[in-house]
Amino acid sequence: MVWNRIIGQERPLTLLRNALRTQRLAHAYLFAGPPNVGKTTVALALAQTLNCLDPVDETQGCGTCRSCRKIAHGNHPDVRVVNPGQMERSAASTVASRASISIEQVREVEVDAHYRPLEGRRKVYIFESAEQMTVSAANALLKILEEPPRTVLFVLTSANPAALLSTIRSRCQEVPFGLVPAETIREALEQRRQVPPQRAQVLATLAAGRVGRAFALAAEERFVARREQVYALAEQVLSCPPVRALQAAEQILTWAEEEGKQENRALLVEEFLELLLVWFRDLLVWRETHSREMLINRDEAERVSRCAELGSSARWQQCVRAVQLARQQLQRQANAQLALEVLMLTLSGNWEKGLRTES
Ligand SMILES: [Zn+2]
Repeated sequence: MVWNRIIGQERPLTLLRNALRTQRLAHAYLFAGPPNVGKTTVALALAQTLNCLDPVDETQGCGTCRSCRKIAHGNHPDVRVVNPGQMERSAASTVASRASISIEQVREVEVDAHYRPLEGRRKVYIFESAEQMTVSAANALLKILEEPPRTVLFVLTSANPAALLSTIRSRCQEVPFGLVPAETIREALEQRRQVPPQRAQVLATLAAGRVGRAFALAAEERFVARREQVYALAEQVLSCPPVRALQAAEQILTWAEEEGKQENRALLVEEFLELLLVWFRDLLVWRETHSREMLINRDEAERVSRCAELGSSARWQQCVRAVQLARQQLQRQANAQLALEVLMLTLSGNWEKGLRTES
């Protein structure tokens, strides 16, 4: 049963299942919402339902028949996912510049869409990050959407729907996707991936509503080692001289650089900052409550309590704000090294001192 596998997103699911029940499915949908919350997963479940050989009912595919399995494995001839391809890494900064969906990719769909389905009942084209189409690709897609073939369903996904051509948007029915509550993610990690409760709690918090991110982290063995690295670094930085704080910034970029060969560096830096945020949040919470139950890093309670006593609530509050600020700056594609240097100086308590001596 394909919908049971989706975590959260009750509203989009209700909307789509109602459309299936009343046979009022639109010919094009725009799934709009933050990255990694399940937009493509839902689009694939919809494609499975439309092509299932043994559906549970008119609103739900079985998830196990030959057709459903082929769609899940990405080798059903009638269901295609079109995406902007590999992320390109920019050498100068950790900020990624993304590739785009090209006119060739859209033309290929245009040709293919006019043939009848090969195996299934309905062709489904899923355009991931649809706002990243080139202008010519967007215009070509618009032409298809103006006269869509009857046996075709288009699903566009986007984290930034405002960046789409308004003419494309107006031809799609928009389905809003939201962040998934941490509690729902924690439960899913425990039940579906057998992640131990404490770790599930940490991962669910770090994922910040993005269920795909939580599952990716759970599958990643390096995560535990990385968390240890970040917490050890945070501990050292708390009372170090400015030179050491600057080295810590360098250290973070080097880690991201080394691991970034497999992943995107910007994402890794973001993850480091998320870990730091959770860490300082815990120091603050400990300082205020002295309750182990209130911690996210319950498994590190001893370390948290030891570090928390080194500063006041006000200091930990300032650290939380500093990490949040650095995160915002990086999201706005600021210079990563500078942002991290300022952050580390602030965390070490040297930034304010530095300012005071200057004034
Ligand atoms: Zn099926």
